[in-house]
Amino acid sequence: MAEVSATFDKELPKELLELLESKRGELEEDALQLLQGLIKIDTQNFGDEGTEIEAVKFIKEKLDEVGVQYEIIEPKPGRGNIVARIRGDGTSNKGAVLLNSHLDTVRAPRENWQAEGWKHDPYGAVIDEEDGCLYGRGTIDMKNMAAMCVALLRFVKTNNIVLSRDLIFAGVSDEERTESTWGARYLVENRPELIEADVVFSELGGFSMRLVGKDVFPIQIAEKGMARMKITAQGPGGHGSLFHKVNPIATIGQVAQFLHTRHLPLRVNIANKATVNSMGSIMPFPVSTLFSQVLNASLSGFILRRFLTEDQQSTIGPLLHNTANPVVIQGGDQMNQIPTTASLIVDCRFLPECTVEELMEEIKQLVGPSRFEIPEGSNQAELAIECLASRDSCSQDPHEPECSEILSIIRDVISSRADGAPIITNLIPGGTDLMYYSKHPTKSPICLGFTPVRMPPEMKFGSLFHATNERIPVDGFKWGMGVLAEVAFHLCLAKL
Ligand SMILES: [Zn+2]
Repeated sequence: MAEVSATFDKELPKELLELLESKRGELEEDALQLLQGLIKIDTQNFGDEGTEIEAVKFIKEKLDEVGVQYEIIEPKPGRGNIVARIRGDGTSNKGAVLLNSHLDTVRAPRENWQAEGWKHDPYGAVIDEEDGCLYGRGTIDMKNMAAMCVALLRFVKTNNIVLSRDLIFAGVSDEERTESTWGARYLVENRPELIEADVVFSELGGFSMRLVGKDVFPIQIAEKGMARMKITAQGPGGHGSLFHKVNPIATIGQVAQFLHTRHLPLRVNIANKATVNSMGSIMPFPVSTLFSQVLNASLSGFILRRFLTEDQQSTIGPLLHNTANPVVIQGGDQMNQIPTTASLIVDCRFLPECTVEELMEEIKQLVGPSRFEIPEGSNQAELAIECLASRDSCSQDPHEPECSEILSIIRDVISSRADGAPIITNLIPGGTDLMYYSKHPTKSPICLGFTPVRMPPEMKFGSLFHATNERIPVDGFKWGMGVLAEVAFHLCLAKL
C-alpha cells in the first residue's frame, strides 16, 4: 500500500511468538466453539424487541471460566450488552484498544428454512463437509468477531500474557437497526467511561476480496452518513376531468426521475481520495493512472462509464458522490381529483466532510433551485424539502501518524500471513457502530473496520451479508483469529 509507508519494525517478544505458535490450534478451536455456541442462540433483531441478553449470558459464562472481568448492561429487558476488560500494566501510556462486535443479527427462519433456500439450519451451526463452511445467521455479520474477541481474552488471561494497555471487548446489541438505540449508541451516551479507548475495531474490513485478479484486504477508514429527505410538491388541485397546468403527482414523478437519472456532484475528501489512491496503488500501470482520474471532476464520469463494469460503477460511484435514491412515493386518494400535494421520500447517503444542509442544497441545485422558492404573486413554492432523520458520517485520515502506525501493523501482519496480500483503505457507503464510537464524549478514538477473515477466491464477503446461507469458511475464520491476536498483541505490546 503506497500511502501508508511507515513500517512497523517492532517484533513481538520471542517467547510470546512461540506461545502463539504452539497454542494456535487451541486458540482457533476455542474461537470456533464459541462461534458455534453463539450461532445456536437466536438473536434476531425485531426492532424494539431483541434477545441479545442470551448471547451475553453465554459470553459471561465463558469469561467466568477464566476470570476475565466484565460488566453487563441491559438498558431494556432482553437488549443486553457486555463490556469485558483486561487491564494493561500502563507502561505504554496509551488508552485502551477496544474490539467491538454486535450480537444481534438480521432475520432468518427458525422453521422451514429449507423452503427459504437454506442448505443448513440457520441456528444449527453446522459445518458443511463439502465446502468447509460453518453455516448460520451471524457467522459473517458478525458473531465471528465476538467469538474471536472472547477467545482472545480467554487466551490472554489463561496464559498470563501481560499487556501494556487495556484491552476491551464490547459485545453490543441492536446494531441492525440504524439507530443502535440499546447498543453502542446507548453505551456512548450513557456509559462512556466503560468504552473509552484510543482505538476501536469493528466490522467492515479485514476480509479478503478479489481486485484486479489479486487478493486484497480492505480496511474501513470511513463511512457515509444517512439522511431521509422528504420532497413535497404542491398545487391548487382540481377536478379530474379538466386540463391542469400543475399536478403534484406529475411534479413528484419528474423529481423522482431527475434524482434517478442524474448524479449529485463529485466530492473529493480525505476518505475517498485515500480509497481511490490505495485501490489505484495495486492496479497495473496505466490502469492505475487512468483510475486515479475518477477524482477529476471533468473526467470522472467518463472514466467510470468507459472503463468500469456496471457492477464496479455501482460500488465505486457512491464513494465519489452523495446519493439520493427515491424510495417511497405518496399522493392522491381520490379517483376523480387532482391532489393538492404529493411527496417523495429520498434515501440519501452523504460523504464525510459534508453536512445535511450541503446535501440538501445539492438536491435543490439538481432539481432546480428556483422551484423551492415562492414566486412573486403566489403564496407557495412548487416544491419543499425537509430532512426527516439523519445519522452522521465518520472518517479517519490514514496519514495521521497514529492511524498510519495502526494500519502499518495490520498491513504487516496480514501480508505475512496471506502471501504478501496488500491492504487498501476503504470508505463504505453504509453505516456501522463505528460512527457512534467516533462520537465518544471524552476521546476521539481511531475507528477502523477490521474483522479479519480470509475468503476463498470464489466467495464474495459482501454477498453473504444478510443473505440466505450466510456462512464462513472455517479455515478463513481460524486464519482471522490468528491475525486479530497478533495485531492486538502488537498494539498492546504484549509480553509474557
Ligand atoms: Zn453487522
